[in-house]
Amino acid sequence: MTLPVPASTLEYFGVDALVDDDTRELQAAVRGFVDRRIRPHVATWYEEGHLPARDLARELGQLGVLGMHLDGYGCAGTSAVAYGLACFELEAGDSGLRSLVSVQGSLAMYAIWRFGSEEQKQRWLPRMAAGEAIGCFGLTEPDFGSDPAGMRTRARRDGSDWVLNGTKMWITNGSIADVAVVWARTDEGIRGFVVPAGTPGFTAPEITRKLSLRASVTSELVLDDVRLPADAMLPEAAGLSGPLSCLNEARFGIVFGALGAAHDCLQTTIEYARSRQIFDRPLAAYQATQLKLADMGLELGKGLLLALHIGALKDAGTLDHRQISLGKLNSVREAIAIARECRAVLGAAGITLDYPVMRHAANLESVLTYEGTSEVHQLIVGQVLTGHSAFR
Ligand SMILES: Cc1cc2nc3c(=O)[nH]c(=O)nc-3n(C[C@H](O)[C@H](O)[C@H](O)COP(=O)(O)OP(=O)(O)OC[C@H]3O[C@@H](n4cnc5c(N)ncnc54)[C@H](O)[C@@H]3O)c2cc1C
Repeated sequence: MTLPVPASTLEYFGVDALVDDDTRELQAAVRGFVDRRIRPHVATWYEEGHLPARDLARELGQLGVLGMHLDGYGCAGTSAVAYGLACFELEAGDSGLRSLVSVQGSLAMYAIWRFGSEEQKQRWLPRMAAGEAIGCFGLTEPDFGSDPAGMRTRARRDGSDWVLNGTKMWITNGSIADVAVVWARTDEGIRGFVVPAGTPGFTAPEITRKLSLRASVTSELVLDDVRLPADAMLPEAAGLSGPLSCLNEARFGIVFGALGAAHDCLQTTIEYARSRQIFDRPLAAYQATQLKLADMGLELGKGLLLALHIGALKDAGTLDHRQISLGKLNSVREAIAIARECRAVLGAAGITLDYPVMRHAANLESVLTYEGTSEVHQLIVGQVLTGHSAFR
């Protein structure tokens, strides 16, 4: 005899009780968009290494998720928890989709919203919130990822203009961006610049041959004597704390997003195991399978409870950015473990694009690396616990 099962492992945890009605509605709207617009196509996009980003950006703009946690300038001004749960649903579709939204809202838009002049905000934010303009965020360089303080990209004054030279690497949305927020070394320290994509000397060749985040655009940014007017600089960001505060915003979305990918893997695997007959019984009826599913469900639920706690702290205005490291480290590490275990439960079927599991597992390899690798977040946590910095 089989007993009724919850529609989602998270229903069993009762997490819905921690979220208000408006947030639940917003989350359901994003889930509906992903079901309708992403799930039927994403395996093909992934296989072809392609994302119809421009069309999707407009639709995501209409859905209201681009820069949704920001106030004014056409942004929705939702709570942090609502933004997190939207990331959860988007990444349940594909990490590439969530990356598009994170980079747009939490990196490019946030940088302009937090550090830009009124003129920069008026010029870019309403169009970016509507998905009519796409942004990217250039911090990482070929030789400086975890240690961006070493960056070589330079901006020098020439009269009242700025002239930028350098190369940025692994930049999400780079080749399709209308505007790039680029961080560069100046005589006054690290500063941010708003670079419209058509500026002479600015090119963004796409990085190909990726085995992860294939439904996402990743690019180099090449700046070869890119001349910008004085007002292209973000006036309020001085030093590395500027780009690092943008990364904190994007990391926050990943705390929830990675668990969305894990949830999609686990639900797919539970359904598969309940229908797959092995030695005349459902795979789900074996103790060995149930031990795996129980452990994965537990980690998923614990991860979301931590994410919701971090979200509540952010909404209360009391979140210490080092607490985001706890969530990023835990969510991505557990999500990738869940995706790999689910792949094994699916057997040979698990290696195909007929199921989302290996696609999520491969995507999560990138998510493990960007926005601070697991080791970087472990070192942040280690520093909090011991008082010693072990970065160098
Ligand atoms: C798909 C994708 C999209 C991306 N999008 C963007 C983007 O939009 N904008 C952007 O600016 N960047 C982006 N990145 C870059 C990303 O942020 C960097 O890859 C990341 O910061 C790691 O840098 P790295 O790859 O140079 O690795 P490295 O910094 O070279 O690290 C290599 C290894 O060394 C470890 N390590 C580093 N420091 C220490 C230490 N002190 N002690 C012990 N181990 C250490 C790391 O954990 C890692 O395992 C993206 C990356 C990917 C893969």
